[in-house]
Amino acid sequence: MSIIDKALEANRKYAKSYDPSNAKRPAPKIVVVTCMDPRLSDLPGILGLPQADIDVIRTGGPAVTDDVLGELVVSNRVLGTTEIMLLNHTGCGFTTFTDDELNAKLTALTGDASPAPMRLFSYKDPEQNTLEQIKKVRSHPWIAKEVPVRGFIFDVETGLIREVHRASKDVAA
Ligand SMILES: [Zn+2]
Repeated sequence: MSIIDKALEANRKYAKSYDPSNAKRPAPKIVVVTCMDPRLSDLPGILGLPQADIDVIRTGGPAVTDDVLGELVVSNRVLGTTEIMLLNHTGCGFTTFTDDELNAKLTALTGDASPAPMRLFSYKDPEQNTLEQIKKVRSHPWIAKEVPVRGFIFDVETGLIREVHRASKDVAA
């Protein structure tokens, strides 16, 4: 049985004890942009916040793409979140290749170059990535000035998150 078929079977059991009050309009308080990496999936645990309070936007990296900016605007302006957290992490898969390398590899593997160059948002340094994200989100005219935009790195070895500040790159050991 495939994983999806198993999941469908499990879902029928899940629905039996499902709380229908979940159908009411969500009222998240904070929006978190984080990586697709499964180690970032337990945000209520990592952040000590109720699941219902967290709007989650996930991309590889994470990359703050134009689509992500649109989702942040909707999260703030339509759903009512009042803080933005950009959560990067150590050991990210997107630091293990460059866009050029993976484009070349997949072109060779499949014999089809038509999707290349595909923008894959690989990066090298989570700290630099975080600083660029803060700048990109902060400078968007539809993100209100009073909404805090803060960037962090989750350490997959310790479970701790630490904040990335503009100056910390220069003082880091
Ligand atoms: Zn990652």
